[in-house]
This record gives sequence, C-alpha cells and structure tokens, in this order.
Amino acid sequence: MDLEKINQGVKLILEGVGEDAQREGLLDTPARVASMYEDVFSGLEVDPVSVITTMPADRHQEMVLLKDISFFSMCEHHLLPFFGKAHVAYIPSEGGLITGLSKLATVVQVVARRPQLQERMTSTVADAMVAALDPLGVLVLVQAEHLCMSMRGIRSTAQTVTSAVRGIFRTNAATRAEVLAMINGRAW
Ligand code: ZN
Repeated sequence: MDLEKINQGVKLILEGVGEDAQREGLLDTPARVASMYEDVFSGLEVDPVSVITTMPADRHQEMVLLKDISFFSMCEHHLLPFFGKAHVAYIPSEGGLITGLSKLATVVQVVARRPQLQERMTSTVADAMVAALDPLGVLVLVQAEHLCMSMRGIRSTAQTVTSAVRGIFRTNAATRAEVLAMINGRAW
C-alpha cells in the first residue's frame, strides 16, 4: 500500500474543506489516517479462500453455524464505515472438507477489510466457502448499519440485511428454515 499517496490525499482533503492542514491538531492527521487505512484495508492483499484451511470432515455431515461475528467495513461509495454482524453456516459434503470454526470469522474479517459493498461482502464470503470446502450448502447472512445512511442521506439508523445462499440451503426450505431459526436463537 502506498502510504505516502494516502498521506498526500488526506492533506488535500483537509485543505479542500478549508482547514489549515498545518495547525497542531491536524499536523499528524494525514499520516495517522494513512496507517489506519493500511489496517482497515488490509484485506485487499489477502485471498479469502486461502484463509479457510481445511481438514477431512470425518463423516460430520451436519450443519455448522458461527453466528454474531462482529465486523467493521468501509462503504466504497462514501468511505464511511458500515458495521454489524455476520452469520456463516455450512453443511460439509459427504466425505468432504471442514474448516476450523475461527476460520469462519477470519474469512468475514478479510472480506470486510476492503472498500466494500455489503452485498458483495456477503456473496464473496459464500463463494470463498464454496471454493475452499465444496460443501453441500452455504448460507451467509449479514446485518449492518451504514454510517452513509445514518450520518448523511436519510439520517436515520436502520439495519440492512443481505444474504447469500448456496446449495442445499437454496434448494431445501426446511434446511434453510432450520438455520434461520438457529441464527434467530429460536432453535431448540
Ligand atoms: Zn455509502
């Protein structure tokens, strides 16, 4: 990542809004923002499929769900944060592959740490799961608040919900209902 370029860009924005980029409080702001962007956009340099390490399913052909994965991302239209929770579920294929539970959170974080759209984030996570595990099905549900809606625009807080559904979760309504009940905390 070109930190110097970000540094110069932030300085221009400060000047553009009519600020004195040389005043004490702002002097280190361009450098601070550059190193923050390096962190916030670190997912640009990571292939999400590569973080989903695999192991044999050992005949565990049942649903796995990691829910309430908190994340922070940046809307690519306004460079303002959107943040909330992701839920990732999959069912391994027979004799197929599984991954560690923490990897389900890692793949969400990697995909979130890019200039992003919630819709694309949701489908990218699902497609990475399909590519890495070739499972029977994957369901990814993301709910988030977008500061570009609540700070500007409609100036109202709301939760945007997106889903990406692959395989058996798409074709089998009962399986889909089961995972949605688990996500909503109504299962058993
Ligand atoms: Zn936006």
